[in-house]
Amino acid sequence: MRLILLGPPGAGKGTQAKLLAKRFHIPHISTGDILRDQMRASSTLGKKVAGFVKSGELVPDEIVIEVVKNRLAKADAKCGFILDGFPRTLNQAEKLTTVLKQFNIFVDLILYFGTSPSVSIERLSGRRVCKSCGRNFHLINMPPELEGICDSCGSELYLRDDDKEKTVKKRLAIYQSQTTNLINHYKATGKLREISGDSEAEKVFTQLVDMFGRESLN
Ligand code: ADP
Ligand code: ZN
Repeated sequence: MRLILLGPPGAGKGTQAKLLAKRFHIPHISTGDILRDQMRASSTLGKKVAGFVKSGELVPDEIVIEVVKNRLAKADAKCGFILDGFPRTLNQAEKLTTVLKQFNIFVDLILYFGTSPSVSIERLSGRRVCKSCGRNFHLINMPPELEGICDSCGSELYLRDDDKEKTVKKRLAIYQSQTTNLINHYKATGKLREISGDSEAEKVFTQLVDMFGRESLN
């Protein structure tokens, strides 16, 4: 199964991608996670992108396209993948199509998570992320067992720089400015399916699994 998840920051794409990856045994490829891992490791790439990521701006297309191309070339992506946070611009979408054609593969579905701005803002401002393993929590919807501590590895949780309110508004505005083109591009392929990102995670997951059944995807 090959999926692309589209939707604003805070739509719950990452949460669904993780659940789907587990259920269908395919890798979850999140450009945001890859870039943050590189930043944590202070790699050349991490240093190059940190300014963009922290301020909520898009990393230049050439950089993310290269990242995705390298990731898709790995063995575990041969039988399927879930792309989360990529493509984000029409140019990225076109480049992705070219790359996939080179591998002779096609995307099955593009899932569009329609989400209201108030829900996005509430989710992002309450999100807390583990400093060391990157696991996500939410102060209200998904609190850790011990306040401020990661359930998985015991490290400290923090609020992402780009989840601070002012930066969230900027990210939503950037998303809005790119999204119409992207949605129209994928609508034309007949593979775009819209679901409500406002619903609870479990409900969204059930809807997705039902949808895959109807689409004979597995
Ligand atoms: P969200 O979807 O909640 O904004 P992500 O974790 O997907 O969060 O992305 C965080 C940041 O990483 C973005 O604001 C941007 O700086 C960078 N980034 C991730 N994916 C892309 C992409 N496809 N194109 C450009 N920048 C990206
Ligand atoms: Zn952790």
